Amino acid sequence: MKLLVTGGAGYIGSAVAAQLVEAGHEVTVLDDLSTGHADAVPPGARFVEGSITDAAGVLDGVEGVLHFAAKSLVGESVQRPDLYWAHNLGGTLALLDAMRSAGVGRIVFSSTAATYGEPERSPIRETDPTRPTNPYGASKLAVDTALSAFAGMYGLAAVSLRYFNVGGAYTDRDGRVYRERHTVETHLIPNVLAVALGGREPVSVFGTDYPTPDGTCVRDYIHLADLAGAHLLALDACTPGEHRIYNLGSGTGFSVQEVLSVCREVTGHEIPSVVRERRAGDPAVLVASSEKIRDELGWKPEHPSVRDVVADAWAALTGRD
Ligand code: UDP
Repeated sequence: MKLLVTGGAGYIGSAVAAQLVEAGHEVTVLDDLSTGHADAVPPGARFVEGSITDAAGVLDGVEGVLHFAAKSLVGESVQRPDLYWAHNLGGTLALLDAMRSAGVGRIVFSSTAATYGEPERSPIRETDPTRPTNPYGASKLAVDTALSAFAGMYGLAAVSLRYFNVGGAYTDRDGRVYRERHTVETHLIPNVLAVALGGREPVSVFGTDYPTPDGTCVRDYIHLADLAGAHLLALDACTPGEHRIYNLGSGTGFSVQEVLSVCREVTGHEIPSVVRERRAGDPAVLVASSEKIRDELGWKPEHPSVRDVVADAWAALTGRD
């Protein structure tokens, strides 16, 4: 298929673009390089530097869009909600408009666990209430809502994938590695591994008084390779007039302390840590039920263990196998 991948120079988008190229699709990556890296775009894809608001020029003959380009820092979204509504909702509406004009009827959208907010139960199912607690989650939920309406009214074929905590790295058939390279890094695993690599500051553990077994927050870590694979299944599952939503996680929760222990084990480094205040807006437990995508699309994670996530992230960071 001829496909457009927005945000394909970023961490997740580039890995999905790589898997699409490997599967034989003709891929164009559209990315404004605000957070991505041109050299992350897989060699077999065409790269166009530009904004999603200018997608009209790259939609000719395209059969499907995989839409990753977005702002994705929760803290920043609280400080600058205008940016999040403009880019994530405004930008996506412009993209959807251009798709309608060009007759492109298929979209796979990067949604997020942040659409659920503070969950009432665990694991979270797709039918659970969506009450985002920050503008990032709210802007993604707004797009999900728009996709449902566009599917109902215009026959759009849409799938939203709600990611939980993505980590690890993807290595393609040629040995090219796709890994996290954020300039502003807020995520736990890369922060811990940066300390293991010789960072001067200890790892901050944000809150040890949560209602969890060891008092630290519990999250569901999914391997980048498994997450990327789900996009190819989602693309095939796109059905005109339907908007499907699937959670994507491993189904098992790990606390911040447990992740730290795994990182110490994998790296062989001591990794000092220091307890700090809770980080605003962090729910105590976020674990996905991914049963729906397993049942309906046959998705099966090959790396369900957080150890694999950490080990592959570490190998990619240090250049080791
Ligand atoms: N966290 C932490 N120290 C860090 C980064 C994150 O203790 O340096 C905690 C954070 O408070 C949360 C968990 O690790 O409870 C996962 O955070 P992350 O930012 O990786 O993902 P999120 O769940 O916020 O999307």
